[in-house]
Amino acid sequence: MPSNRRAFLAATTAALTATSAASAAAAPDPHPHPPPHPHPTTARGALAELLAGNRRYAAGHPLHPHEGSARRHVLAAEQHPFAVVVGCVDSRVPPELVFDQGLGDLLCIRTAGQVLDEAVLGSVQYGVEVLHIPLVLVLGHERCGAVAATLAHLRDGAPVPGHLRLLVEEIMPAARRTCGLPGDWADLTVRAHAAWVRDAIRADPAFASAQVAAARFDLDSGRVAVLP
Ligand SMILES: [Zn+2]
Repeated sequence: MPSNRRAFLAATTAALTATSAASAAAAPDPHPHPPPHPHPTTARGALAELLAGNRRYAAGHPLHPHEGSARRHVLAAEQHPFAVVVGCVDSRVPPELVFDQGLGDLLCIRTAGQVLDEAVLGSVQYGVEVLHIPLVLVLGHERCGAVAATLAHLRDGAPVPGHLRLLVEEIMPAARRTCGLPGDWADLTVRAHAAWVRDAIRADPAFASAQVAAARFDLDSGRVAVLP
């Protein structure tokens, strides 16, 4: 390589390096002061915040609040989550993402098909009684595999192996109630089962201090709709 060409390359490289170092130094921190994020203290406010977060998530404009190390340090001493979410283990329905919340915001209890057992109820009670959380939200979702397994069992007698039996038994009442109704059986079961779990939690005096709601997550739109 001719020496003038080598000198030109060296000068250009040096200039580019200097420019990029300068821009790195000048580049603003994208989140220097995270915007204040509401921390609801009532069931109504908690549900409103969950739905607002879900609108951000579904629109593709999540804030990803409360994820940094500063938040982690604040929470190390104590936690004050504002909602209990009783949801499914489905990898497509992580409550913190679906509701655009962060560390310390939600107490999530997840089982396949969001079924109830003593461990789940004890966990809800921990949230409501010990942490004074004002809202319990039962979150069912579209195309739930646990619901599909239940319908396959009822329709075709498909075997239910091992520990899956508890899930199917818990979802079966909703599936039986909706069988033969007009509409998509699977989705009707998802809705009926979430409402059944909501009503069971509502009826339990252990949770009298909290409001309990049920909702359905739509995998296609990303939207959560509260069930009647
Ligand atoms: Zn599911």
